Amino acid sequence: MSYQGPREECGVFGVWAPGADVARVTFFSLYALQHRGQESAGIATTDGNRVFLHRGLGLVTQAFKEDSLKPLAGPMAIGHTRYSTMGSPSLRNAQPFVLQTLMGPLGVAHNGNLTNASHLRQIVLQRGAGLSTSSDTELILQMLASPGQVLGNAATWHERIRALIDVAEGAYSIVVMTRDGIYAARDQHGFRPLCIGELSYGDGRTGLVVASESCALETIGARYVREIEPGEIIRIGEDGLKSWRSEQSPIKPAMCIFEYVYFARPDSLLEAQSVHLIRQRFGEQLAREAPIDADVVVGAPDSALPAAIGYARVSGLQYTEGLTKNRYIGRTFIQPDESLRRDTVRLKYNPLRANLEGKRVVLVDDSIVRGSTAGPLVRLIRDVGAKEVHVRVSSPPVKHPCFMGVDLGTHDQIIGAQKSVSEICEHIGADSLAYLSHEGMINAVRRDLDQGAGHCSACFSGQYPLEVSAHALKASFEDISGQ
Ligand code: 5GP
Ligand code: MG
Repeated sequence: MSYQGPREECGVFGVWAPGADVARVTFFSLYALQHRGQESAGIATTDGNRVFLHRGLGLVTQAFKEDSLKPLAGPMAIGHTRYSTMGSPSLRNAQPFVLQTLMGPLGVAHNGNLTNASHLRQIVLQRGAGLSTSSDTELILQMLASPGQVLGNAATWHERIRALIDVAEGAYSIVVMTRDGIYAARDQHGFRPLCIGELSYGDGRTGLVVASESCALETIGARYVREIEPGEIIRIGEDGLKSWRSEQSPIKPAMCIFEYVYFARPDSLLEAQSVHLIRQRFGEQLAREAPIDADVVVGAPDSALPAAIGYARVSGLQYTEGLTKNRYIGRTFIQPDESLRRDTVRLKYNPLRANLEGKRVVLVDDSIVRGSTAGPLVRLIRDVGAKEVHVRVSSPPVKHPCFMGVDLGTHDQIIGAQKSVSEICEHIGADSLAYLSHEGMINAVRRDLDQGAGHCSACFSGQYPLEVSAHALKASFEDISGQ
């Protein structure tokens, strides 16, 4: 059986703001969440009776035109940007998913991955419901629409979402649109982020929003209120913000540490901390752990730049720009031909000869996953005359697949699972290679957090916070490259 594992890291958004142009607000929030997914984007709104939906392929600006926003009426909206690296981009899997139910309109947008999706699919199919996609978001929609055997007698939306959290294993942050308002919830571990903001609009009116990352709040001029807690359900609607916390004994939180390493935008807050600042700390610690005699420090744009700044600061080496990234690359529908494909990194980055020629360069990158970026970057830097290139990685070696919603590939694709650090160094053609320690990374993230803080770092440590089924683990060793 081919591996159908985690492949999504998405952005979700929801807004309640009667009288505001909620579709437009959602559009600009999704625009700020674009880095979380470039395959497709969608917005659903409701006036309490009817549902309005527009979804399109590509970047948010490609999926939406002025005309596509106009029909999206109502006091509330949910939106989604979707990331998928495998298979062809498909509108069928684009979110949000919507339905009409006995309890009125229902819309769901979801970021994450249910680890027991195949089990839940069986139950839903056995009771006679149809599913039109392989997406676990549609599964969530169906379970909420007709709770039946899976969710029991849950009557209200919040009871249904609570029952869903009780049966759905894995990672998910969801926004659910109903005629009562927008519900939002995180799984019991809080793997994927989700925060609440307050939106001021019109003449002194305030609305409420939820977003995967706080950078979306800044873009629409909303104020960051707080994170949604793991296992918490909130509703934003007529009666403001309402919250239901989990009655189960608390599970140790396990927010994805890779959000800090790579995914989140540097201007976002995670756990109320600046992502940029944490990345700088990664670089500072890396400089303490893995110093090297060199002339300049450059970062792989954009996600490694804060770590490169931190590395330069502690090492005392000069920080400079060494690579320019084409900011408009997005997901292109024009595939490079054979000769270009061999070096796709060249389509994305150009080296700055003036800053690199004759220099001993420290190249900081945030992560090495499959090993397809670092090697070509080293080559680009050598090609313009750098004397030495030392690669420093501001996270530990990625060695294990993710089952919690990040597409890191399978064991045989993850270079750190296959090769030692010295073999990887040789593979990427660097003069030296060193990674940040696991302890160094964790300490940088937790320095200012409460004792109770916890994170999932399973891709580095192999210690999964929840039981990963033997089936999923076995499948993760199977080659999917033929797909
Ligand atoms: P690699 O090329 O080794 O597979 O991945 C590491 C590089 O890609 C780093 O430069 C990092 O910034 C970026 N990266 C890390 N994880 C992901 C991911 O899940 N998706 C994408 N598009 N890039 C990633
Ligand atoms: Mg990168």
